[in-house]
Amino acid sequence: MKMNNETILVVDDNPDNIRLMGHILDAHYHIQFATNGEEALASVADNPPDMILLDVMMPGIDGFEVCRRLRQGERSRDIPVILVTALNDPAAEIRGFSAGAVDFLSKPVNPPVVRARVGVHLALKRQREALERTNRRLAEENARRMLLEEQLREQAEYDALTGLPNRKLFQDRLEQTILMVERNQGSFSLMFLDLDRFKWVNDTLGHDAGDQLLVEVSRRLRGVVRKSDTVARLGGDEFTVILSDILHESMAELVARKILEQLSTPFVLKGQEVTISGSVGIAIFPADGGDAQELAKNADCAMYQAKEGGRNAFRFYSQEINRQAHRRMRLEAQMRHACGTDEFFLDYQPKISLVTGCITGMEALLRWNHPEEGILFPKQFMPLAEGTGLIIQIGAWVLRTACRDAMVWDKEGYGSLKLAVNLSALQFREGDKLVELVEDVLQETGFPPERLELEITETMMMGNTEAVCATLHRLVAMGIVIAMDDFGTGYSSLALLKRLPIHVIKIDRSFVSDLRADSNTAFISAIISMARQLRLHVVVEGVETIEQLRIMEKQGGDDVQGFFFSPPLGKEGMLALLQGRIPLGGSN
Ligand code: C2E
Ligand code: MG
Ligand code: MG
Repeated sequence: MKMNNETILVVDDNPDNIRLMGHILDAHYHIQFATNGEEALASVADNPPDMILLDVMMPGIDGFEVCRRLRQGERSRDIPVILVTALNDPAAEIRGFSAGAVDFLSKPVNPPVVRARVGVHLALKRQREALERTNRRLAEENARRMLLEEQLREQAEYDALTGLPNRKLFQDRLEQTILMVERNQGSFSLMFLDLDRFKWVNDTLGHDAGDQLLVEVSRRLRGVVRKSDTVARLGGDEFTVILSDILHESMAELVARKILEQLSTPFVLKGQEVTISGSVGIAIFPADGGDAQELAKNADCAMYQAKEGGRNAFRFYSQEINRQAHRRMRLEAQMRHACGTDEFFLDYQPKISLVTGCITGMEALLRWNHPEEGILFPKQFMPLAEGTGLIIQIGAWVLRTACRDAMVWDKEGYGSLKLAVNLSALQFREGDKLVELVEDVLQETGFPPERLELEITETMMMGNTEAVCATLHRLVAMGIVIAMDDFGTGYSSLALLKRLPIHVIKIDRSFVSDLRADSNTAFISAIISMARQLRLHVVVEGVETIEQLRIMEKQGGDDVQGFFFSPPLGKEGMLALLQGRIPLGGSN
C-alpha cells in the first residue's frame, strides 16, 4: 500500500535514471515509466497520471516538445510536468516554463529535493482540483437558482389555473404592442371578455366545476387566436385578447364572432352539459385610445354595453358608449345624493276585487324626481340602484314611507286595505337585516303585518333558494303576506312554489296585454287552476281594457290591477280615489 494513491509517470531514455527516480518515489506513489517522448504521450493518452517527471534531453521528440504537446491535450493539459535536466542553463528553464512546465529538477537529482518538489506540486494540484470542484458546485447551484427564479417569475406572470398570462403580463404585453404598432403606424384591437353565467355555474355546480369551466374556456380562446396574439386572464371570469395586427375592424369582428361561437358550444362539467355565453367589448388602437389605460377602459366599457344589451354579444367601443358610461356615472352620483333628499317619492296603484268591484289594497311604486331629467321610472334607474347596492337604502325608505302613508289612510277610515311593497333580490342577500328592517318599520309606524304584502320575483330564487326561503319563513311567521310578482316570466317550477311560503301570485301583465275576446286563454286558465289547487290568491296585472277585464272575470282571478281602473297615483291622488273624489275606471 502506497502512502498516496497518486500516479507519477517518469520519462527518461536512461533506464538507470528511471530506476533511481522509482527508488526515490516508490514508497509514496505509483510509478509508471516511459523511455521516450512518443511512449510518454501514448501512456498519458491511455491512462493519465497525476504528475510527470520529464527528461529534457531525449532522442526523438525532446522534453520541451512533449511538454508543449501535453499542454494541448484536453486530458493532459492540467497534469503538472516537472522537467529534469542536466543543463544548468537559465535559457533552458525559460524555454521549459514557456512550454508549460511547472518546475525544474537538475541532474544529478537530490532525493529529498525530488520528494519535496513532487509533494508540493501534487498538493497544489489537489488544491486546484478541490477549488475546481467547488467552482463547479457553485456554478451548478447558480444554475439551479436561476431556474427557480425563472419559475417564480412565471408564477408571478402567469395565471396558475389556466396557464394564461395574468394581469401584470397582460399590461406589459399591451404596452409593448402599443410601442410596436405605433412604430409601424399600424393598428391592433383589444378585447375584453366576460362570461355571462359564470357565477351561476360556481353557485350551483361548485367551484371545481367553475375552475374546470375556466380552463376549458382558456383552451378554446387560445384555439381561436393566432400564436402571436395574447389571451390573458385578468381574474375571475374576465379575459382579454390582444389581436396584435389587424388590417380592418372586420377582422376583430370575425374573431369576436368565433369567440362567442366557441363559448356557446356546450361544456361538459362534472358529467353535466352546461351552456353559457360571453360578452365581448372591442377597442381599436389608436382610434379608441392612445395609451394602454384608456384603451383598456374603453374595451371594458364596450363589454359592459354588450352585457347590458342582452349578453352573448360583442360591441365595438364608440363615443356613444362613452357618453352613456358618463351618464351612468353621473346618475350614480346623483342617486347617492338623492337618498338624503325628497327626490324619491311613491305612487300607489289600487287593486280591485273581481267579486265586489271594490278597492282591496294598493301597490307602492317608486319614482325619482330627477333635478335635470324630470320624473324617472324604475326601469330607468332600478338597474343602477341594484348595481350600486343603493337599493338597500332606497328600499328601506320605500317600506317606511309606504307604511306611514297607509297609516294616514287608516286614520281617514280606510283601515282594511292591503299595502303591497316590492322588494329587490339584493335586500334578500342579508336576510337578517331585511327581517330587522320590517320589524322596525312595523313597530315604528304601527302598521299591522297581516296587511303588509311583500312582492318578490321568481328570479330572486336563482342561486340561493335556501337562504331566500328561510328569510321568507321568518317574515311569514311575523304575519306578513308574500306575493310572487311577474309570475310566469321567470323560471319558477311548481315544486318551488309548493316549497315557498307564498300566498299570492301576480300574473305578469305580458300574459294579459295581448288578450282579446277571441284569444287563447289556455295558459292563464292553467295558471289559475294550479293556483287554486295550491290555495293561492291570484292578482292579474296590467288590465287595460274592458275586454281583458271580462276575460279575467271568466277565468276567475281574485283581484285585478291595471290602467283600466287607475294608473299609479300620488299619495294625495290615492286618497282622492278612496274618497270617491276621482272615479275609479270602469265604474261609470
Ligand atoms: P311591478 O311590481 O310588476 O309593478 C307594476 C308595473 O306595471 C308598474 O310599473 C305599473 O306602473 C305598471 N302597470 C300597472 N298597470 C299597468 C297597465 O295596465 N298597463 C301597463 N302597461 N303597465 C301597468 P312601474 O311603476 O314602472 O314599475 C316597474 C317595476 O319596477 C315594478 O314592476 C317593480 O318590479 C319595480 N319597482 C317599482 N317600485 C319598486 C320599489 O319600491 N322597489 C323595488 N325593488 N322595485 C320596484
Ligand atoms: Mg310589484
Ligand atoms: Mg309585476
